[in-house]
Amino acid sequence: MIVEHIGIAVKDLTTAIKTYEKLLGRAPSKIEQVEGEGVATAFFEMANGTKIELLAPLRPDSAIARFLEKHGEGIHHIAFGVEALPPHIDRLSQTGFQVLYNPPRPGADGKMVTFIHPRDTHGVLVEFCADRAEE
Ligand code: ZN
Repeated sequence: MIVEHIGIAVKDLTTAIKTYEKLLGRAPSKIEQVEGEGVATAFFEMANGTKIELLAPLRPDSAIARFLEKHGEGIHHIAFGVEALPPHIDRLSQTGFQVLYNPPRPGADGKMVTFIHPRDTHGVLVEFCADRAEE
């Protein structure tokens, strides 16, 4: 398992991309809309493969729009990368975590994703993701 990426909720993707380009001294490696989640994303890849994922809402009824209303901009989730999701979904469900997407759903960056509710993880929304081809 690796820390695959850290998700940051932003109001405006274009503005946030400019900020993170300046901050990290590099352009985003990928910009992508995930219609199903109502989110526009940009990824900045670090030397070790960990990414920073900027997330901006595409619609006012999206989860990311609701997060921004409640909390404002900031860290939204931490994503752990695994080889395959089903064994981890089983393990997490059996040990009392509320797994939000079971079965997992398509996410950004060619991944299948699920989330663990922050009430089970001391206040942090946790994503588990795996490459879609390996599902
Ligand atoms: Zn993510």
